[in-house]
Amino acid sequence: MKKIFYTVGPSQIYPTVARHIKNAISTDVLSLSHRGEGFSEIYKSTVKGVRKLLNVPESHEIVFVGSALEAMERVTQAMSHNNTYHIITGNFGKIWSGIAKDLKKNTQEFTLFEKDTAKMSDISLKNIKIPEESELVCITQNDTSVGFSIPLEQIYTLRKKYPKSLFALDVVSSAPYVDIEYKNLDAVFFSVQKGFGLPPGLCVLILSPKAVKYARKLQNLPNYSTGSYHSIPKLVDNGAKFQTTETPNILGFYLLDCVIKDMLKIGIKRIRQDTEEKAQMIYSFFSRPERGENYRDTQYLGVPYVKQSEYLSVTDPVIEIKGGSEGIRKFAAEKGLILGAGYGERKNEHIRIANFPAQSVSDTKKLIKVFEDYEKTLK
Ligand SMILES: *Cc1c(COP(=O)(O)O)cnc(C)c1O
Repeated sequence: MKKIFYTVGPSQIYPTVARHIKNAISTDVLSLSHRGEGFSEIYKSTVKGVRKLLNVPESHEIVFVGSALEAMERVTQAMSHNNTYHIITGNFGKIWSGIAKDLKKNTQEFTLFEKDTAKMSDISLKNIKIPEESELVCITQNDTSVGFSIPLEQIYTLRKKYPKSLFALDVVSSAPYVDIEYKNLDAVFFSVQKGFGLPPGLCVLILSPKAVKYARKLQNLPNYSTGSYHSIPKLVDNGAKFQTTETPNILGFYLLDCVIKDMLKIGIKRIRQDTEEKAQMIYSFFSRPERGENYRDTQYLGVPYVKQSEYLSVTDPVIEIKGGSEGIRKFAAEKGLILGAGYGERKNEHIRIANFPAQSVSDTKKLIKVFEDYEKTLK
């Protein structure tokens, strides 16, 4: 049986990936020298594609690291000397602040969303006061652990209030859906095994001129290092030559380049519209108003974990499942649809549903049908 993965990462591979992997082998891409022209062409084309698809201005650098966690570490090392500020909405935000603590930063946290606030109505970045000394503000735009997504306008407004700090944004599970105005941000990153439907092992990091300048300033301090072979200054300097310092994930670059070209053919507007249509299908199934507050007493399968509609994730709906999520996960798996479990300790409380470009509108219709069929078994 052909499986469709609704897991949030690694996820369903983009439909053209199998063909591109075959091509990579038949055209000897895997044996290319990373110091040769062949790889430089792939690198150049990947940067060009990312810039075009995501509308990244020429002023911003596009570089590559191995994973999103690596991007968190590089950004924290190179964009703060001492003080970082973290807006936490779930486990990925906590991972980032943990990385900052491991790097011995002075780390402050503001918890915008957690289990206890899941039902509160007044959640907003308006209430945040960032200390003067915070050099770097770290924000997870879409926390995949809970399906909580911060509207970009709120982030831009906060940035305008604190123009001295650098702002870094994790969009791992919302790219390429999320439509960013890069002039409002200093670092934006995503790894490719989520919304791009690719094998893991590559992360795109987009940097403002201010970010690069600060990184160079810190790198030149006598008693401070922003890192070695993957420090931001090295990544940028090698990138200018369309090269990497180490022997890179050449297949990852090649596949990203190919998939971006496929996406450009469809058009980002269309991809974003489809994403919204699928999210609408999922949320309207789980948000039928007639169930009211007492949904636990009814025959319904579950409700969105996030209760504030403006923060519902479009790309990764997380649903609280009445009586535990194992039953629906098994039921769907028997039909070839692989759902994500809840994150960490909420494994059996939630399902997480990837809504990336690789999950088609028609597959998502099948998924809704499976939910309907499962609900009938509850009656
Ligand atoms: C998956 C994920 C990460 C971690 O990505 P890696 O590539 O595994 O390092 C970070 N942030 C968010 C929001 C994620 O969903």
